[in-house]
Amino acid sequence: MSEFDKKNSARTKLDLLVCGIQDNAALFNKFCSYFKEEHYAYDNGNWGVDKDRLVPSEIMLPGDIVCKLHIRPDSKYELFEDNGTLLITKNKKEISEFSFIQKPKFWQFETSSGIPMKSLAQMYGKNCLNFNIYSGCEFHSKHLPCHFCSVSSTVKRTNPVKIKKSPSELAEVCQAASKNDTVDYIIITGGSYLDSDKEFMTHLNVIDAIKSCLPWNGDIKGNISMMPPKDFNLLKCLYDRRVSNPSFNMEVWPQENFDRICPGKSKYVGFSHIIDSLKFLVSLYGSGAVWSNFVAGLTPLECLKDGFLFMAENGIVPGANIYHPEVSSLIENSIKVSHDYVCRLYSFAAELYVKYNYKPYFNESILRNSLANEFYHGLL
Ligand code: SF4
Repeated sequence: MSEFDKKNSARTKLDLLVCGIQDNAALFNKFCSYFKEEHYAYDNGNWGVDKDRLVPSEIMLPGDIVCKLHIRPDSKYELFEDNGTLLITKNKKEISEFSFIQKPKFWQFETSSGIPMKSLAQMYGKNCLNFNIYSGCEFHSKHLPCHFCSVSSTVKRTNPVKIKKSPSELAEVCQAASKNDTVDYIIITGGSYLDSDKEFMTHLNVIDAIKSCLPWNGDIKGNISMMPPKDFNLLKCLYDRRVSNPSFNMEVWPQENFDRICPGKSKYVGFSHIIDSLKFLVSLYGSGAVWSNFVAGLTPLECLKDGFLFMAENGIVPGANIYHPEVSSLIENSIKVSHDYVCRLYSFAAELYVKYNYKPYFNESILRNSLANEFYHGLL
């Protein structure tokens, strides 16, 4: 794989994350028994897609660069097959090949109590096991969701994911995935509870249940994302349990945007408490292990850059997913992100990573909705 080809893949990923892709029911129906389909465990960026039809969650671009698919009918990008070759076009002109990503093998199995493992977990990108302990969020029930979030409507589907998963069910999933698939990392998240102590203990119980079922000698190699407990001294439990990259995601910056766009997090947890908790984690872990993720595109670029800088200066690795409109979120598709915004943000992030000796999250075959790795490695 030449550097030129990898750069073309990174450029294609940028285009698809900013602009989305058109639906292609015939192609997707043809390959739906093979590809890893959209799981709808917490988000739905597929506009105009019948709920019961399978569509791919991601595609792989040449050079092992994964890209999330967001189906938007007005996109000028399309996927199609030509004599057995899968291609991406822009305005009907070919720009790249791609491949579908195979369904994880653990999806074939059920837990000992008969629950399909497919309803419990997903593979994120190439080989990162991923589950939401709670595929819901109590901020929605108080009409205080993050404005970009669609979890409560997304999970109201036929054949939904299981909303609340037990530690023992998830332990069985971890065992099956470790045995039958390649698992290099894990992402554990949840929706939030109004009582952040309950949320924290839910995560801790799952960590205790799954530790011995994963292939890393008791380490939790990956990201645990949640809201911090009221007493941040409890966060020592994450360090003691060898969770490699805990995160509390700020989403937007500064506080006035946080309070407006994430009103549930603001009311029930609080901007300052999240910052204090992140700093406490850094006092345990040192610089460069604690993460905080943002959504790129919701606020002016300079606001987000200020947030990235604040985090980096305080030992926290900032990251961002590129904003994609979610069906039935509060802001739906009223916001458009530009190529320029995305490129300037991730260039800035790459400079910070180099300056502070940080690494972007995971790698480019896993981080499907971000270009942090591609910019860091000079592909864009
Ligand atoms: S905390 Fe915000 S982003 Fe997370 S599930 Fe709740 S509403 Fe959605």
